[in-house]
Amino acid sequence: MTEQNSYPSDIMDKLVSLCKRRGFIYQGSEIYGGLAGTWDYGPFGVELKNNIKQVWWQMFVQRRDDMHGVDAAIIMNPKVWESSGHVSGFSDPLVECKKCKRRFRADQVGEKCPECEGQFGPMHQFNMMFKTHVGAMEDESSVSYLRPETAGGIFVNFKNVVDSLHPKLPFGIAQIGKAFRNEIAPRDFVFRSREFEQMEIEYFVRPEEWEESFEEWRKEMHSFIETVGIRKDRTYELEVSDEDRAFYSKRTIDFEFDFPFGRKELYGLAYRTDYDLSAHMKGSGQNLAMADKEGEPAIVPHVIEPSLGVDRTILAVLSSAYTEDELGGEARVYLKLAPRIAPVKAAVFPLMKNKPELVAKARDIYAALKKEIPQIMWDDNGNVGKRYRRQDEIGTPFCITVDFDTLEDDTVTIRHRDSGEQERIAAGDLEKFLLKNIK
Ligand SMILES: [Zn+2]
Repeated sequence: MTEQNSYPSDIMDKLVSLCKRRGFIYQGSEIYGGLAGTWDYGPFGVELKNNIKQVWWQMFVQRRDDMHGVDAAIIMNPKVWESSGHVSGFSDPLVECKKCKRRFRADQVGEKCPECEGQFGPMHQFNMMFKTHVGAMEDESSVSYLRPETAGGIFVNFKNVVDSLHPKLPFGIAQIGKAFRNEIAPRDFVFRSREFEQMEIEYFVRPEEWEESFEEWRKEMHSFIETVGIRKDRTYELEVSDEDRAFYSKRTIDFEFDFPFGRKELYGLAYRTDYDLSAHMKGSGQNLAMADKEGEPAIVPHVIEPSLGVDRTILAVLSSAYTEDELGGEARVYLKLAPRIAPVKAAVFPLMKNKPELVAKARDIYAALKKEIPQIMWDDNGNVGKRYRRQDEIGTPFCITVDFDTLEDDTVTIRHRDSGEQERIAAGDLEKFLLKNIK
């Protein structure tokens, strides 16, 4: 447990409470007592989330020539999930307590019910897909599912993308979107929830080139981890053994992270052979082979799948960023977020909010900055010390104070979040300064 000692005590409670207090993450449907396994992102949470998704999309789609994005429907033809094996096999072992009727995941409990010490009944397989009905008929013929992963939407569009863009191997298709799993035991804040968001890539390669591509994606994942500010010294690769790997996968690496509640899976990287495309060929009756090299027969490409969860990324980012220290003799808490993903890049304050000339000048500076850098916040609540404390907890890298000197010489004070150091710069240089420092 030594690795976890690097977290402050009671870190999870503190983090959950900061997320609620500052508007990052709330319990889902909270005023109705909540709904287990659901979480709502608040004003700063949604900005953080969007920034993370944007970094991923830019890195892996927009800045590359070999990647194409899609945004597929969440409710798909149920045959998709028959072909993928989810209808028959996407289940967890479930046991029910004979006494209190509570249900548990069999692999997470011992011999007796942890709530009442009662005996368990026989184990069942519980399918984790959310069932729904499409259209007005609520019978077996109308059953469909909320997608349990975004990958399905990529595979069913493989032929469409090939036909529209004629890409050459290797190339990838990427998607960001919601997925749903009816977890028996949702737990650990947003780590295991019933509704979550994924960032997935299916990278199609010639069979003989999978190892090379796997290595490239392994490096890319480390580069993403670094870019969003997840602590490297809490990140580990786990080579998944033959017994634990899906039967069709020839190699899988789990990227694990030391969360405050233990070392758990953060991301996955898997070589899935041609299992998925072949299964969908069989299920749909469509030919998903593509022409690759001139004069050679069409092939069914093999697949490397880097799979990332948005919510787990956010939890790893927040766990990495949460810092307690002492500044000017006072204890403080701040989020050491990478400026690029911080929900607020800079906050602008008038030194005092009852001096109209200060407020007017600060408003001008604020409006000019916000036009170019939208994630700028106005803050005139409480005294400057309180504002710093609030912005530290939001993870705002820079605070800009407009004071009486500003009215004389058009300079402002910039305060740096991590060091608490302040410097004076010309108001006209603010935009350049921020753009340089929030990349
Ligand atoms: Zn019980």
